[in-house]
Amino acid sequence: MKILGKSTSEHFDSFYSEIVTQIGEQKFVPSRILGRGYYQFEEQGPEIGLRTDLSRPYFEHQVAHELVHVLQRKEGWPRGVTRHPEGSPIAELGTFLVSMVLDLNVEERLKAWSFDSSYILKEQYRNLKKAVLDQNIPSLGSCRWRKGVMMYANASLTQPANKWDELRKLFARRAPHIEIKGEELVSILKGNGWDTADQALASLIAVRNSIGLLGEHLGIVDGRTGRRI
Ligand SMILES: [Zn+2]
Repeated sequence: MKILGKSTSEHFDSFYSEIVTQIGEQKFVPSRILGRGYYQFEEQGPEIGLRTDLSRPYFEHQVAHELVHVLQRKEGWPRGVTRHPEGSPIAELGTFLVSMVLDLNVEERLKAWSFDSSYILKEQYRNLKKAVLDQNIPSLGSCRWRKGVMMYANASLTQPANKWDELRKLFARRAPHIEIKGEELVSILKGNGWDTADQALASLIAVRNSIGLLGEHLGIVDGRTGRRI
């Protein structure tokens, strides 16, 4: 098939024909956010934004990833809501938190299909290494520190062992206040899990509370009941 003018492989096509029976046809558009794809609801309906600068294996992983998000939405997985304006630090923390937890599940489900997600892990490694070597280490309790501890936890759960070992040592040396909280988040995430919508809901609430974001700033919505927590 073709998506945004790019031809896909037979391997991808068989994945697509399977998932489309559960979620129906989707609308694809070029991503409006630099450097990442997304699944979101616009006034004219839901759409999947895609990076078009990726080579075919990475492009296919990206599409598959966003399609699993559509499936999660259909299954009633949780989402974040905030009154803070789009692009503000709190709204960005909310987006990062929800993506982190839901992505752990997306990638788990995609394992059976062996799509190549190495570009994400390489970008994540590069960004984190640059951030921890930066002179401007965030101060304890700031929004940048909250983002840092979530990036730490995310990388700890996704990076290959040798890369993570290197990053963890850099954090311990240069930003122990991020390492300590980051390790706490890793325990919270492993303790609550991300295999089911209930587990993801529990993980999201526990991480949000742990980094001191109150529900009035960042609400977590149970996708099955619409209840905001
Ligand atoms: Zn995602």
